[in-house]
Amino acid sequence: MVIEYAGTVIRAVLTDKREKYYDSKGIGCYMFRIDDFDVVDATMKGNAARFINHSCEPNCYSRVINIDGRKHIVIFALRKLYRGEELTYDYKFPIEDEDNKLHCNCGTRRCRRFLN
Ligand SMILES: [Zn+2]
Repeated sequence: MVIEYAGTVIRAVLTDKREKYYDSKGIGCYMFRIDDFDVVDATMKGNAARFINHSCEPNCYSRVINIDGRKHIVIFALRKLYRGEELTYDYKFPIEDEDNKLHCNCGTRRCRRFLN
């Protein structure tokens, strides 16, 4: 285990409203979707995990873990990590059409060119 993606668990239907609010205040938005129903919002209450970037060839992975009936997102190492090495995991965004594609800048050999 490397770190928990800490934040407030909110219902997925609230994300658009919150994103718009953060945008209007110039606050960078950090959210991690757990499933169709819940999202961890790390924007106002979170930790360093929210700054971990995506990579198509990552050194970590995320898992949703149930602890006493509560969902937690935890980042685990895929292999031995070296001091000073950047941590990354695959965001696994759902595939979207051409108009909504996000370019990937991970720069790895196996880069898929898009995050979604
Ligand atoms: Zn990539």
